[in-house]
Amino acid sequence: MKKSNNRNVAIVGGGIAGLAAAIAFRKAGYTPVVFEAAETMKPVGAGLGLAANAIKAFDKLGIKNEIVERGRILSSFTIKDEKDKTITYTDSLKISREYGIDNFTIHRAALHEVLLAQIPEVKLYTGKKCVDYVIKENNVQVLFKDGSSFDADYLIVADGIHSAVRQKLVPGSAPRFAGYTCWRAVVDNTALKINNSYEIWGSQGRFGAVPLADNQLYWFATVNSTANNTSFKNFTIADLKTWFAKYPQETAAILNSTPDDALIWNDIIDLKPISKYAFGNVLLLGDAAHATTPNMGQGACQAVEDAAVLYDELLKGGELSNVFLSFEKRRLKRTHFITNQSARIGKIAQATNPFMIKVRNALFRSLPASTKEKQFKKLYQTDF
Ligand SMILES: Cc1cc2nc3c(=O)[nH]c(=O)nc-3n(C[C@H](O)[C@H](O)[C@H](O)COP(=O)(O)OP(=O)(O)OC[C@H]3O[C@@H](n4cnc5c(N)ncnc54)[C@H](O)[C@@H]3O)c2cc1C
Repeated sequence: MKKSNNRNVAIVGGGIAGLAAAIAFRKAGYTPVVFEAAETMKPVGAGLGLAANAIKAFDKLGIKNEIVERGRILSSFTIKDEKDKTITYTDSLKISREYGIDNFTIHRAALHEVLLAQIPEVKLYTGKKCVDYVIKENNVQVLFKDGSSFDADYLIVADGIHSAVRQKLVPGSAPRFAGYTCWRAVVDNTALKINNSYEIWGSQGRFGAVPLADNQLYWFATVNSTANNTSFKNFTIADLKTWFAKYPQETAAILNSTPDDALIWNDIIDLKPISKYAFGNVLLLGDAAHATTPNMGQGACQAVEDAAVLYDELLKGGELSNVFLSFEKRRLKRTHFITNQSARIGKIAQATNPFMIKVRNALFRSLPASTKEKQFKKLYQTDF
């Protein structure tokens, strides 16, 4: 049942966290206003893994079917060495059968489209880069780069890892560089015919491939680097082919099917866990609160979990600043665990020393299936 609520909620950031939060507020009877820095809401980005915990969160928000329709089931995930020999194999279908929900992959643009379609009545202003805020007696004034401002009763900060508002609320919370850099692209999978997701852990870094719906393939590569390395920044497909020349032949085939202008490059960064997400009538969500490295494929999943927990708390009613505090109480431990665990996995996966690689691969190969399943089950135990 929808009740109406006239408190004025501003959401800064129209990414996955901001849009999922807008859906949560709408469902709970509020009409938030979203402010997005980009000039248009054009689809950007590559592929995403949406693990079962995110699908469960979408279910809570009432949009599981819409998401699943645009996604593709992730049936297995293999980690291999550069000679194409399996290090670990995860039967995702078996785990999800026990859990009751599948894991999916999706194009980020498709996910955005679905989220946007759920909130036609929400006002979304583009070209509105939030640069600061001022706390007033009973409200918060949001300041934009174009000189305009907006008076809100409550402010939801969902503007990603570089959030200026977070850095003002939590001084010293600048993003930290993980030590490796990443290229991504989405290509046509018709000729490649890659049906299973995998990641190669080799001496030159990692290379992974993930089939998406509509005969598309998402691939990514990560290489140890210094921050903002100009040489890597200018890498072309030809450079990547040379770099990964020793990797299984399929790697070259995938790279050959990628035009240079489809390459997305960025350093891998995260946020050292912070101890607060709720600050009176201001709440941090998604990457603005708990950005993680992509090693567990959980950043966006946690943003959606945020929205599901927020919805749960909104339904309980009460003053929103108390809702935000309850949200924080439920979310800190799990989001901290994911950020820390993901950073650890990244360090292990990016090893390039031949001896370390040998020991690591042997250790991972000897891991009993039950240990891996236990880890996945922990991942799927959501905060709602
Ligand atoms: C290589 C890579 C692979 C990944 N793979 C996965 C995966 O498989 N699964 C997964 O779950 N996650 C994955 N992630 C993480 C995921 O992309 C993020 O966690 C997710 O995008 C966070 O969503 P968000 O809305 O919090 O932030 P963002 O996606 O950063 O969105 C923030 C939004 O706010 C806008 N904005 C920025 N600044 C301002 C401002 N000042 N004012 C107003 N608006 C602003 C931006 O334009 C953007 O629209 C991956 C990340 C990377 C880098």
